[in-house]
Amino acid sequence: MIDPFGRPITYLRVSVTDRCDLRCVYCMAEDMTFLPKAEVLSLEEMDRLCGAFIRLGTNKIRITGGEPLVRRDVMSLFRSVGARIGHGLDELTLTTNGTQLARYAGNLHAAGVRRVNVSLDTLDAARFTAMTRWGKIEKTLDGIFAAKAAGLAIKINAVAMKGVNEDEFDAMIAWCGEHGFDLCLIETMPLGDIDGDRTDQYLPLSVVRARIRKRWTLEETAYTTGGPARYFTVAETGQRIGFITPMTHNFCESCNRVRLTCTGTLYLCLGQEDSADFRQVLRSGASDDALDDAIRAAITLKPKGHDFVIDRARQRPALARHMSMTGG
Ligand code: SAM
Ligand code: SF4
Repeated sequence: MIDPFGRPITYLRVSVTDRCDLRCVYCMAEDMTFLPKAEVLSLEEMDRLCGAFIRLGTNKIRITGGEPLVRRDVMSLFRSVGARIGHGLDELTLTTNGTQLARYAGNLHAAGVRRVNVSLDTLDAARFTAMTRWGKIEKTLDGIFAAKAAGLAIKINAVAMKGVNEDEFDAMIAWCGEHGFDLCLIETMPLGDIDGDRTDQYLPLSVVRARIRKRWTLEETAYTTGGPARYFTVAETGQRIGFITPMTHNFCESCNRVRLTCTGTLYLCLGQEDSADFRQVLRSGASDDALDDAIRAAITLKPKGHDFVIDRARQRPALARHMSMTGG
Protein backbone atom coordinates (compact mmCIF):
# COMPACT_ATOMS: atom_id res chain seq x y z
CA MET A 1 0.00 0.00 0.00
CA ILE A 2 1.46 3.33 -1.09
CA ASP A 3 -0.20 6.53 0.09
CA PRO A 4 -0.75 9.65 -2.06
CA PHE A 5 2.64 11.04 -0.96
CA GLY A 6 4.54 7.92 -2.03
CA ARG A 7 4.99 6.51 1.48
CA PRO A 8 4.69 2.71 1.80
CA ILE A 9 2.25 1.92 4.61
CA THR A 10 3.60 -1.18 6.31
CA TYR A 11 2.90 -0.62 10.00
CA LEU A 12 -0.48 -0.95 11.74
CA ARG A 13 -1.09 -0.02 15.35
CA VAL A 14 -4.20 -1.52 16.88
CA SER A 15 -5.80 -0.15 20.03
CA VAL A 16 -7.71 -3.09 21.50
CA THR A 17 -9.46 -1.21 24.30
CA ASP A 18 -9.90 2.37 25.51
CA ARG A 19 -9.94 1.13 29.11
CA CYS A 20 -7.02 1.27 31.48
CA ASP A 21 -6.19 0.36 35.05
CA LEU A 22 -4.13 3.57 35.45
CA ARG A 23 -4.93 7.24 34.86
CA CYS A 24 -1.66 8.85 33.78
CA VAL A 25 -2.07 12.60 34.22
CA TYR A 26 -1.01 13.49 30.65
CA CYS A 27 -3.23 10.83 29.09
CA MET A 28 -6.62 10.73 30.79
CA ALA A 29 -8.89 12.62 33.14
CA GLU A 30 -9.44 10.84 36.45
CA ASP A 31 -13.15 10.29 35.75
CA MET A 32 -12.77 9.07 32.15
CA THR A 33 -15.93 7.57 30.69
CA PHE A 34 -15.20 4.50 28.64
CA LEU A 35 -17.01 3.21 25.59
CA PRO A 36 -19.95 0.84 25.78
CA LYS A 37 -18.95 -2.73 24.81
CA ALA A 38 -21.22 -2.84 21.73
CA GLU A 39 -19.16 -0.06 20.14
CA VAL A 40 -15.91 -1.93 20.56
CA LEU A 41 -14.80 -4.44 17.94
CA SER A 42 -14.69 -8.07 18.99
CA LEU A 43 -11.26 -9.71 19.02
CA GLU A 44 -12.41 -11.77 16.01
CA GLU A 45 -13.24 -8.56 14.12
CA MET A 46 -9.83 -7.14 15.02
CA ASP A 47 -8.11 -10.31 13.89
CA ARG A 48 -9.95 -10.21 10.56
CA LEU A 49 -8.85 -6.61 9.99
CA CYS A 50 -5.26 -7.46 10.91
CA GLY A 51 -5.39 -10.34 8.41
CA ALA A 52 -6.60 -7.98 5.68
CA PHE A 53 -3.86 -5.44 6.40
CA ILE A 54 -1.23 -8.18 6.29
CA ARG A 55 -2.64 -9.43 2.99
CA LEU A 56 -2.19 -5.89 1.63
CA GLY A 57 1.43 -5.56 2.73
CA THR A 58 1.46 -4.65 6.41
CA ASN A 59 4.45 -6.39 7.97
CA LYS A 60 4.47 -4.95 11.47
CA ILE A 61 1.60 -4.78 13.96
CA ARG A 62 1.70 -3.19 17.39
CA ILE A 63 -1.06 -3.91 19.91
CA THR A 64 -1.80 -0.97 22.18
CA GLY A 65 -4.66 0.79 23.98
CA GLY A 66 -5.79 1.97 26.59
CA GLU A 67 -4.09 -0.83 28.39
CA PRO A 68 -4.18 -3.80 26.01
CA LEU A 69 -3.55 -6.40 28.69
CA VAL A 70 -6.71 -5.48 30.64
CA ARG A 71 -8.90 -6.57 27.74
CA ARG A 72 -10.48 -9.93 28.53
CA ASP A 73 -9.02 -12.82 26.52
CA VAL A 74 -6.61 -10.52 24.65
CA MET A 75 -4.13 -13.41 24.44
CA SER A 76 -6.39 -15.05 21.83
CA LEU A 77 -5.72 -12.05 19.57
CA PHE A 78 -1.97 -12.31 20.17
CA ARG A 79 -2.14 -15.99 19.26
CA SER A 80 -4.19 -15.52 16.10
CA VAL A 81 -2.20 -12.54 14.81
CA GLY A 82 1.06 -14.13 15.99
CA ALA A 83 0.27 -17.19 13.86
CA ARG A 84 0.73 -14.92 10.81
CA ILE A 85 4.37 -14.19 11.65
CA GLY A 86 6.39 -15.54 8.74
CA HIS A 87 3.28 -15.44 6.52
CA GLY A 88 3.40 -11.76 5.60
CA LEU A 89 3.84 -10.46 9.12
CA ASP A 90 7.41 -9.85 10.31
CA GLU A 91 6.78 -8.56 13.77
CA LEU A 92 4.06 -8.40 16.43
CA THR A 93 4.74 -6.03 19.31
CA LEU A 94 2.98 -4.53 22.29
CA THR A 95 2.88 -1.24 24.18
CA THR A 96 1.81 -1.70 27.79
CA ASN A 97 1.94 -0.07 31.19
CA GLY A 98 3.34 -3.36 32.48
CA THR A 99 0.88 -3.94 35.33
CA GLN A 100 -0.26 -7.29 33.87
CA LEU A 101 3.03 -8.34 32.30
CA ALA A 102 4.05 -10.63 35.13
CA ARG A 103 0.99 -12.70 34.28
CA TYR A 104 1.28 -12.65 30.49
CA ALA A 105 4.98 -12.40 29.58
CA GLY A 106 5.39 -16.13 28.92
CA ASN A 107 2.20 -16.29 26.83
CA LEU A 108 3.28 -13.28 24.80
CA HIS A 109 6.59 -14.90 23.98
CA ALA A 110 4.82 -18.13 23.06
CA ALA A 111 2.55 -16.15 20.70
CA GLY A 112 5.60 -14.81 18.85
CA VAL A 113 6.10 -11.43 20.52
CA ARG A 114 9.80 -10.64 20.92
CA ARG A 115 9.80 -6.97 21.91
CA VAL A 116 7.61 -4.91 24.23
CA ASN A 117 7.45 -1.22 25.02
CA VAL A 118 6.68 -0.57 28.65
CA SER A 119 5.68 2.88 29.86
CA LEU A 120 7.51 3.95 32.98
CA ASP A 121 7.90 7.68 33.54
CA THR A 122 9.79 7.57 36.82
CA LEU A 123 11.73 5.19 39.07
CA ASP A 124 10.41 6.84 42.20
CA ALA A 125 7.50 5.00 43.86
CA ALA A 126 5.68 8.08 45.18
CA ARG A 127 6.11 9.93 41.92
CA PHE A 128 4.86 6.92 39.98
CA THR A 129 1.69 6.91 42.05
CA ALA A 130 1.24 10.66 41.51
CA MET A 131 1.81 10.44 37.73
CA THR A 132 -0.55 7.48 37.28
CA ARG A 133 -2.97 8.80 39.95
CA TRP A 134 -3.10 5.43 41.75
CA GLY A 135 -0.56 2.98 40.27
CA LYS A 136 1.95 0.96 42.30
CA ILE A 137 5.44 0.93 40.80
CA GLU A 138 6.18 -2.59 42.10
CA LYS A 139 3.57 -4.09 39.79
CA THR A 140 5.08 -2.47 36.71
CA LEU A 141 8.63 -3.34 37.77
CA ASP A 142 7.64 -6.96 38.42
CA GLY A 143 6.08 -6.99 34.95
CA ILE A 144 9.21 -5.57 33.34
CA PHE A 145 11.47 -8.16 34.95
CA ALA A 146 9.07 -10.99 34.13
CA ALA A 147 9.16 -9.88 30.50
CA LYS A 148 12.95 -9.82 30.58
CA ALA A 149 13.03 -13.30 32.10
CA ALA A 150 10.65 -14.53 29.39
CA GLY A 151 13.15 -13.41 26.75
CA LEU A 152 11.39 -10.27 25.55
CA ALA A 153 13.49 -7.26 24.54
CA ILE A 154 12.32 -4.19 26.43
CA LYS A 155 12.09 -0.55 25.57
CA ILE A 156 11.06 1.82 28.33
CA ASN A 157 8.84 4.73 27.24
CA ALA A 158 8.92 7.81 29.44
CA VAL A 159 6.92 10.96 28.87
CA ALA A 160 9.06 13.98 29.78
CA MET A 161 7.17 16.40 31.99
CA LYS A 162 8.38 19.77 33.12
CA GLY A 163 8.94 19.94 36.86
CA VAL A 164 7.78 16.35 37.32
CA ASN A 165 10.37 13.82 36.15
CA GLU A 166 12.94 16.00 34.39
CA ASP A 167 15.52 15.46 37.14
CA GLU A 168 15.45 11.68 36.63
CA PHE A 169 16.64 11.06 33.12
CA ASP A 170 20.26 10.43 34.09
CA ALA A 171 19.11 7.86 36.64
CA MET A 172 16.82 6.24 34.09
CA ILE A 173 19.58 6.01 31.49
CA ALA A 174 21.81 4.33 34.08
CA TRP A 175 19.03 1.95 35.19
CA CYS A 176 18.16 0.99 31.61
CA GLY A 177 21.86 0.46 30.89
CA GLU A 178 22.21 -1.80 33.92
CA HIS A 179 19.28 -4.00 32.86
CA GLY A 180 19.77 -4.00 29.10
CA PHE A 181 16.72 -1.90 28.20
CA ASP A 182 16.43 0.76 25.53
CA LEU A 183 14.84 4.04 26.57
CA CYS A 184 12.58 6.36 24.64
CA LEU A 185 11.71 9.83 25.88
CA ILE A 186 8.45 11.31 24.60
CA GLU A 187 7.25 14.90 24.45
CA THR A 188 3.71 15.45 25.72
CA MET A 189 1.24 15.78 22.90
CA PRO A 190 -1.98 17.81 23.08
CA LEU A 191 -4.46 14.94 22.73
CA GLY A 192 -7.76 14.92 24.60
CA ASP A 193 -8.97 16.75 27.67
CA ILE A 194 -7.11 15.95 30.87
CA ASP A 195 -7.62 17.66 34.22
CA GLY A 196 -4.97 20.34 33.76
CA ASP A 197 -3.10 22.71 31.53
CA ARG A 198 -0.78 21.03 29.06
CA THR A 199 1.35 24.11 28.50
CA ASP A 200 2.60 23.63 32.08
CA GLN A 201 3.70 20.05 31.29
CA TYR A 202 5.45 20.61 28.01
CA LEU A 203 9.19 20.11 28.10
CA PRO A 204 11.00 20.29 24.75
CA LEU A 205 13.30 17.30 24.30
CA SER A 206 15.88 19.53 22.61
CA VAL A 207 16.49 20.91 26.11
CA VAL A 208 16.52 17.45 27.68
CA ARG A 209 18.97 16.11 25.11
CA ALA A 210 21.39 18.97 25.70
CA ARG A 211 21.30 18.23 29.43
CA ILE A 212 21.78 14.49 28.91
CA ARG A 213 24.81 15.18 26.73
CA LYS A 214 26.60 16.77 29.70
CA ARG A 215 26.82 13.38 31.35
CA TRP A 216 26.48 10.80 28.55
CA THR A 217 28.00 10.34 25.12
CA LEU A 218 25.24 10.05 22.53
CA GLU A 219 26.44 8.42 19.34
CA GLU A 220 24.46 8.85 16.13
CA THR A 221 22.85 5.68 14.78
CA ALA A 222 21.17 4.83 11.53
CA TYR A 223 18.50 2.92 13.48
CA THR A 224 14.96 4.01 12.68
CA THR A 225 11.46 2.60 12.99
CA GLY A 226 10.06 4.98 10.38
CA GLY A 227 8.40 6.84 13.23
CA PRO A 228 8.98 10.10 15.03
CA ALA A 229 11.80 8.80 17.25
CA ARG A 230 15.42 9.75 16.66
CA TYR A 231 17.79 7.18 18.14
CA PHE A 232 21.29 7.39 19.57
CA THR A 233 23.51 4.86 21.29
CA VAL A 234 24.59 5.77 24.81
CA ALA A 235 28.31 4.96 24.55
CA GLU A 236 28.69 4.33 28.30
CA THR A 237 25.89 1.72 28.47
CA GLY A 238 25.66 0.41 24.89
CA GLN A 239 21.85 0.83 25.00
CA ARG A 240 19.79 2.92 22.64
CA ILE A 241 18.04 6.14 23.60
CA GLY A 242 15.27 7.56 21.44
CA PHE A 243 13.67 11.00 21.46
CA ILE A 244 10.10 11.27 20.20
CA THR A 245 9.62 14.90 19.34
CA PRO A 246 6.37 15.44 17.46
CA MET A 247 6.19 19.02 18.69
CA THR A 248 9.68 20.22 17.81
CA HIS A 249 10.63 18.09 14.84
CA ASN A 250 8.90 17.17 11.65
CA PHE A 251 9.03 13.48 10.93
CA CYS A 252 6.02 13.06 8.70
CA GLU A 253 7.93 12.53 5.42
CA SER A 254 8.90 9.01 6.42
CA CYS A 255 5.64 8.03 8.15
CA ASN A 256 4.81 4.38 7.46
CA ARG A 257 1.93 3.84 9.88
CA VAL A 258 -1.81 4.00 10.39
CA ARG A 259 -3.81 3.47 13.58
CA LEU A 260 -6.95 1.48 14.25
CA THR A 261 -9.05 2.39 17.29
CA CYS A 262 -10.90 -0.22 19.32
CA THR A 263 -14.16 0.89 17.67
CA GLY A 264 -12.81 0.13 14.21
CA THR A 265 -11.98 3.68 13.11
CA LEU A 266 -8.78 3.87 11.12
CA TYR A 267 -6.88 7.13 11.71
CA LEU A 268 -4.43 7.94 8.99
CA CYS A 269 -2.40 10.34 11.15
CA LEU A 270 -1.98 10.70 14.92
CA GLY A 271 -2.33 14.46 14.59
CA GLN A 272 -5.22 14.78 12.12
CA GLU A 273 -8.89 13.87 11.96
CA ASP A 274 -8.78 11.97 8.63
CA SER A 275 -10.34 8.58 9.27
CA ALA A 276 -12.36 5.69 7.89
CA ASP A 277 -14.89 3.51 9.72
CA PHE A 278 -14.31 -0.22 9.47
CA ARG A 279 -16.83 -1.37 12.06
CA GLN A 280 -19.63 -0.58 9.65
CA VAL A 281 -17.78 -2.40 6.84
CA LEU A 282 -17.21 -5.49 9.02
CA ARG A 283 -20.71 -5.59 10.47
CA SER A 284 -22.39 -5.18 7.09
CA GLY A 285 -21.06 -8.58 6.08
CA ALA A 286 -18.38 -7.34 3.66
CA SER A 287 -16.44 -9.96 1.70
CA ASP A 288 -12.65 -10.09 1.99
CA ASP A 289 -12.39 -8.34 -1.38
CA ALA A 290 -14.70 -5.54 -0.24
CA LEU A 291 -12.71 -5.19 2.98
CA ASP A 292 -9.44 -4.96 1.03
CA ASP A 293 -10.97 -2.30 -1.24
CA ALA A 294 -12.12 -0.30 1.78
CA ILE A 295 -8.59 -0.40 3.24
CA ARG A 296 -7.02 0.70 -0.05
CA ALA A 297 -9.54 3.55 -0.27
CA ALA A 298 -8.75 4.62 3.31
CA ILE A 299 -5.01 4.79 2.61
CA THR A 300 -5.68 7.40 -0.09
CA LEU A 301 -6.91 9.70 2.71
CA LYS A 302 -3.57 9.79 4.53
CA PRO A 303 -2.62 13.44 5.04
CA LYS A 304 0.84 14.82 4.42
CA GLY A 305 1.52 15.63 8.06
CA HIS A 306 0.27 16.87 11.40
CA ASP A 307 0.05 20.37 12.78
CA PHE A 308 0.16 20.00 16.52
CA VAL A 309 0.36 23.14 18.60
CA ILE A 310 -0.05 23.55 22.30
CA ASP A 311 -2.10 26.71 22.37
CA ARG A 312 -2.23 28.44 25.71
CA ALA A 313 -4.74 31.03 24.51
CA ARG A 314 -7.32 28.49 23.40
CA GLN A 315 -6.71 26.21 26.39
CA ARG A 316 -8.01 23.35 24.32
CA PRO A 317 -6.33 20.18 23.14
CA ALA A 318 -5.27 20.20 19.48
CA LEU A 319 -7.36 17.06 19.01
CA ALA A 320 -10.36 16.05 21.08
CA ARG A 321 -9.53 12.36 21.08
CA HIS A 322 -7.29 10.92 23.77
CA MET A 323 -4.08 9.00 23.14
CA SER A 324 -5.88 6.01 24.66
CA MET A 325 -8.20 5.99 21.60
CA THR A 326 -5.41 5.71 19.05
CA GLY A 327 -2.77 4.19 21.28
CA GLY A 328 0.00 6.66 20.49
N1 SAM B 1 -1.38 1.79 28.28
C1 SAM B 1 -0.23 1.53 27.47
C2 SAM B 1 0.96 2.32 27.92
O1 SAM B 1 0.81 3.21 28.77
O2 SAM B 1 2.05 2.04 27.44
C3 SAM B 1 -0.46 1.74 25.99
C4 SAM B 1 -1.23 2.95 25.56
S1 SAM B 1 -0.51 4.52 25.96
C5 SAM B 1 -1.74 5.63 25.34
C6 SAM B 1 0.82 4.60 24.77
C7 SAM B 1 1.88 5.63 25.04
O3 SAM B 1 1.35 6.92 24.88
C8 SAM B 1 2.46 5.58 26.45
O4 SAM B 1 3.87 5.47 26.38
C9 SAM B 1 2.05 6.90 27.04
O5 SAM B 1 3.02 7.36 27.94
C10 SAM B 1 1.93 7.78 25.83
N2 SAM B 1 1.03 8.93 25.99
C11 SAM B 1 -0.24 8.97 26.45
N3 SAM B 1 -0.74 10.22 26.40
C12 SAM B 1 0.24 11.00 25.88
C13 SAM B 1 0.34 12.39 25.57
N4 SAM B 1 -0.66 13.21 25.75
N5 SAM B 1 1.51 12.83 25.05
C14 SAM B 1 2.54 11.98 24.83
N6 SAM B 1 2.51 10.67 25.10
C15 SAM B 1 1.38 10.18 25.62
FE1 SF4 C 1 -3.32 4.06 30.73
FE2 SF4 C 1 -1.27 4.04 29.08
FE3 SF4 C 1 -2.89 6.18 29.23
FE4 SF4 C 1 -1.31 5.62 31.27
S1 SF4 C 1 -0.66 6.17 29.19
S2 SF4 C 1 -3.50 6.13 31.40
S3 SF4 C 1 -1.24 3.45 31.25
S4 SF4 C 1 -3.43 4.19 28.52
